[in-house]
Amino acid sequence: MDKQALLIIDYTNDFVADNGALTCGQPAQALADTIVALADQALAKGQWVILPTDVHQPNDPYHPESKLFPAHNERGSWGRAFYGPLADWYQAHRDDSHVLLLDKTRYSAFCGTRLTLFLKERGIDHLALCGVCTDICVLHTAIDAYNQGYQLTVYKDAVAALSETGQQWALNHFQNVLGAKVIEGVA
Ligand code: ZN
Repeated sequence: MDKQALLIIDYTNDFVADNGALTCGQPAQALADTIVALADQALAKGQWVILPTDVHQPNDPYHPESKLFPAHNERGSWGRAFYGPLADWYQAHRDDSHVLLLDKTRYSAFCGTRLTLFLKERGIDHLALCGVCTDICVLHTAIDAYNQGYQLTVYKDAVAALSETGQQWALNHFQNVLGAKVIEGVA
């Protein structure tokens, strides 16, 4: 059996809540129960749950996103807190040895983080992805995972984008260009 980790990407208030700074809105809010079910399922199977979560410093003139997007996910802010049911789930599981909150400052969860070491130490060779935004941070993480040789699964009912066009393009890219299994539900 392969060793698997579930990556819950950027499921924070700024990306999900109605008044988030960079929100995917209702399509993202609708994922909440599915994402929590996936997290419970992963732990029940002895897998890992990793939460790669964007973090920014206020008014950082050197960060490329400062010119591209409104300020979001600033450290310690409401916007960077997990959205809705995932906030409760994380509070209940944050000390679990199979749960990791991973700070990231770029789109990809691999960029400038200890993710590769964490995965290699544990022999994890299969990554399952969910969260937001499908065509930004989920996509860039999937591309890096592909380049490093990980098997990939994407839960199509547990990812959301800023636009429906972006959602469909990225789902197609995962399957046809990155060789991911794109699956429905939580199976
Ligand atoms: Zn960001």
